[in-house]
Amino acid sequence: MSENNYIQKDQENLEHASNDACIFCKIVRGEISAEKVLEGDSFIAIKDANPLVEGHTLIIPKQHWVTLLDLPNKFGNEILGFIKKVANNLMDSGVADGFNVVMNNLEVAGQVVKHAHIHIIPRKEGDGIKLVG
Ligand code: AMP
Ligand code: ZN
Repeated sequence: MSENNYIQKDQENLEHASNDACIFCKIVRGEISAEKVLEGDSFIAIKDANPLVEGHTLIIPKQHWVTLLDLPNKFGNEILGFIKKVANNLMDSGVADGFNVVMNNLEVAGQVVKHAHIHIIPRKEGDGIKLVG
């Protein structure tokens, strides 16, 4: 990689390092409290403040990416493992008999917090939750 490319990469990393006004960046920095259920190298999992059901969890990258499209592919393995860990914990603790993995990307798709995040929604028979349609 040329020196210029290194400089460009550093600038990209800086841009996504943290966003002063972003509520999820504030949680990552510890400036706003949240119920953290898991922490990895690049992601945290917290309980949703307005849960659809008990155990509703958000997986949040520590860096400030806005949507799935911004997340570098290098996080693929880590995020898959992280989703599985959160979901397994919910299943093992009896909070979930199944689960939905949902990501709202951009406003028209229902994204309110403009810092990429994945919802893990525990499901139980007859819970009446309708996510699509
Ligand atoms: P979305 O529509 O995908 O952007 O959903 C944002 C989610 O973040 C909602 O389910 C909110 O309840 C949740 N949320 C917003 N602020 C906080 C917070 N400070 N701590 C935990 N969850 C939050
Ligand atoms: Zn952010």
